[in-house]
Amino acid sequence: MKYDLIIIRYGEISTKGRNRGKFVDRLKRAIKHALSGHRAIKIEAGRDRMQILLNGEDSKVVTGKLKNVFGVQSLSPAIRSERDIDSIKSAAHSLMESVYEEGKTFKITAKRSDKTFELDTDGINQMFGAFILKNFPGLKVNVKNPDINLLIEVRKEAVYLSCVTIPGAGGLPLGTGGKAMLMISGGIDSPVAGFMMMKRGVELEAVHFHSPPFTSERAKQKVIDLVEKLSEVSGEILLHIVPFTELQQTIKNQIPENYSMTATRRFMLRITDAIREKHGGLAIVTGENLGQVASQTLESMYAINEVTNTPVLRPLLTMDKTEIIKMAEEIGTFETSILPYEDCCTIFVPSSPKTKPKKDKVIHYESFVDFEPIVERAIEGTETIRVTPGFGDRNQGLDDLF
Ligand code: ATP
Ligand code: MG
Repeated sequence: MKYDLIIIRYGEISTKGRNRGKFVDRLKRAIKHALSGHRAIKIEAGRDRMQILLNGEDSKVVTGKLKNVFGVQSLSPAIRSERDIDSIKSAAHSLMESVYEEGKTFKITAKRSDKTFELDTDGINQMFGAFILKNFPGLKVNVKNPDINLLIEVRKEAVYLSCVTIPGAGGLPLGTGGKAMLMISGGIDSPVAGFMMMKRGVELEAVHFHSPPFTSERAKQKVIDLVEKLSEVSGEILLHIVPFTELQQTIKNQIPENYSMTATRRFMLRITDAIREKHGGLAIVTGENLGQVASQTLESMYAINEVTNTPVLRPLLTMDKTEIIKMAEEIGTFETSILPYEDCCTIFVPSSPKTKPKKDKVIHYESFVDFEPIVERAIEGTETIRVTPGFGDRNQGLDDLF
């Protein structure tokens, strides 16, 4: 079947009242980006839906790309017909031919936004129902739950026909939700947390703490690869790599062992917050999950979170690990996440971290050391990389750069 266009429905965007123009604009930009390889395509953005004119591009390939764009509720490949009955019949015929199977059921759903058209919706339903039955004797009508729903939409400029509705990615268009800093480890959880935020329209920058020589170049490369995967959604993500060795060693030497993990997390959060402030972010995102490990009890979160007033968002907080793994597989980060290179926390992690640390105690322990200059050096030494899809391929053989 050769389709003329793809109809995109907005779903949630259409509830956004006066902001709608901005939302539609952002969605158009995201779609343009997703389809940048398809030069013939034209996008018509209306208030209630968008039309992607294919101009000969392959509808299957284009649909496959559009399905992943946040803010798209559903999409339908469609054909465009002139407004005379004969043309509409011929379009309906070729569309039904492409999905026809003996014994299938169908119905016609007519929509008429242009009331000057010669038939009303009942008239369209009747005329085209009879036409299809006559031409496809193997089909039966079923108005409640048909196999094929032939949509005939009469608009001022033309008539659009479609018979398949594909669910989109949902969510909100990227960039409509402000910017947040994703704390990314090399693990399974944080990339999933980042993905979920992007799905709600939030633009991300990523922050990673790296402790050479205790953590290897490969551990760092793994995080770059994960960010690269996430950047497929947005086109690019800034990744800030913070040198954390001096701080971790100082914590190891100066803070009682069972509080070193709590202190480590507090410094990570402080530094991330400082980078956030420099780059105009509004929140910090982590892959934390309630009760998963010692640092993720409510008591721990309370003691760690005390260092900042910035919202710390934890989209995975109440999810089960099996659900998180399933999502990681779906978004394509799981394989990379389970590579065995350790990160800075696994190496310095004490044998028995406190699961119920006390805020006052950790503040007391930290007070014996002047951490400020060490924190400053970590922030100053931060290296920022602009990660885009295909980044790894382009940089192969340039390992000494990192
Ligand atoms: P993940 O699978 O994301 O590593 P986790 O279940 O292993 O999470 P932790 O290691 O306790 O949990 O880390 C909790 C969160 O702290 C991570 O999801 C991430 O947001 C942040 N984090 C941990 N290590 C780092 C790091 N080296 N750099 C930046 N953020 C980190
Ligand atoms: Mg981890």
